[in-house]
Amino acid sequence: MANDSENLLKKVISHAKEYGFIFPSSEIYDGLSAVYDYGQNGVELKNNIKEYWWKFMTQLHDNIVGIDAAIFMHPTTWKASGHVDAFNDPMIDNKDSKKRYRADVLVEDAIGKMEEKIEKEIEKAAKRFGDSFDKKMFAETNPRVLEYQKKIDVANERLKSAMSANDMAAMKQLIVDLEINDPISGTKNWTDVRQFNLMFSTEMGSVADDANKIYLRPETAQGIFVNFLNVQKTGRMKIPFGIAQIGKAFRNEIVARQFIFRMREFEQMEMQYFVKPGTEMEAYDFWKAKRLKWHQALGLGTENYRYHDHLNLAHYANAACDIQFNFPMGFKELEGIHSRTDFDLKSHEKFSGKKLQYFDSESNTNYVPFVVETSVGLDRMFLSILSIAYKEEKISGADGEEGGERVVLSIPPALAPYKMAVLPLVKKDGLPEKAEEVMNLLKHDFRCYYEDKDTIGRRYRRMDAIGTPYCITIDHQTLQDNTVTIRERDTMKQERISILSVKEKIQKLVSITELLKKI
Ligand code: ATP
Repeated sequence: MANDSENLLKKVISHAKEYGFIFPSSEIYDGLSAVYDYGQNGVELKNNIKEYWWKFMTQLHDNIVGIDAAIFMHPTTWKASGHVDAFNDPMIDNKDSKKRYRADVLVEDAIGKMEEKIEKEIEKAAKRFGDSFDKKMFAETNPRVLEYQKKIDVANERLKSAMSANDMAAMKQLIVDLEINDPISGTKNWTDVRQFNLMFSTEMGSVADDANKIYLRPETAQGIFVNFLNVQKTGRMKIPFGIAQIGKAFRNEIVARQFIFRMREFEQMEMQYFVKPGTEMEAYDFWKAKRLKWHQALGLGTENYRYHDHLNLAHYANAACDIQFNFPMGFKELEGIHSRTDFDLKSHEKFSGKKLQYFDSESNTNYVPFVVETSVGLDRMFLSILSIAYKEEKISGADGEEGGERVVLSIPPALAPYKMAVLPLVKKDGLPEKAEEVMNLLKHDFRCYYEDKDTIGRRYRRMDAIGTPYCITIDHQTLQDNTVTIRERDTMKQERISILSVKEKIQKLVSITELLKKI
């Protein structure tokens, strides 16, 4: 991680704590590794992200409905899904730093570095050749680029075959051959690679024998699969249709050092789309494009998203890609789109002995549908928003603003914890009473923050720091003509308008509905 981005992540973490977005879990006991609590502002932002996702998936697609399945499921579920046998990550330790890593991630990072080198060569050449530069031709003929590309292809191929053959010795050899150093100790003093199952288990009932062992779900998807027929029949759903769900998932992650990017308890927003076999690639392409649009409508910068096709397909998939986001740690997975075939439903049929088939009245046949899944981490969404929103700015100090530096969270207004602050200029002369009147007028439509302490400049700062898009200031003139000043967070521009036009002015700018219309 470059220094600047490392700093950005640190700043985001401490800002998130200082302003009530995210606290370490059970902090008074020094926290619990890779587990976090969302504070008073965090929970609002999180709920707004959920609403943006839920409305898009279920309200804007009349063939998608939601469910809320339990976290605990019958233990055979996880046999059938393959998680008991195959939900492993390869882990490796560095003997000098005593740090543990995911072996596949070490290799992927090394490949990423080689890709960066290619990009640099291309950038350099583009500068040298100017307008006449032919990027494609350069990439296909430049010896240095070709050499890197060859190394990348070989490494990808070896990674793929080691992972699919479950060959941990080959994994270790790949790390040795790529001369990967531990980023902390700088040495190549590695242990062997071992497989590690990521599921948490506990016991249900009072007798702690093996028969009662149950798991905390590592993904929400299985709750959808086991309810496939319940929903299809009771909702009279016709294929293609989808089932959406938001809920907690748990994974005993090997490496958990990146704040809410990789947690042991996290939340997923998943949708399983059931289609006729043979049409899954069409649905896969459709959802790949739709989901990217959903992300981009937030306005965090289209350049911050990219697709990454999977070479190492999971045991259930016939095509898969990630939507990666430019996190402070670099481009990493934000959402996965997977064509899961009929693997899960067929496997549940086998293990449960129950048919999980769809009767197609047009062709008069029964079949097990294929499934395309979209799965996005709510916490990763949160981090993507916070890390782009966080800005430090120098300001001059006109219009009641405090001069100096400000930290502003330019959160998309529709997702901001508070939509506006109502601020009486001074705490006397009837201004607080007038402000209360304004609050009462607006609070049914918007989440408003009331504050009358400190100078107006300081109060603006505090609202900037939690990302409140509008501040309404009540001053002496308000008492005379019912006008207020309205200050916009990002531009700090102020305007005087009538109290009665505040609602109309702001409504569209902070509305999730308007955001959804952009997709
Ligand atoms: P990774 O390769 O980063 O471990 P994954 O491919 O295992 O992720 P999926 O199983 O596809 O992830 O899960 C779908 C989504 O759930 C991911 O895109 C991510 O946003 C989120 N997610 C997965 N694991 C975690 C975690 N430990 N903490 C937070 N979010 C997670």
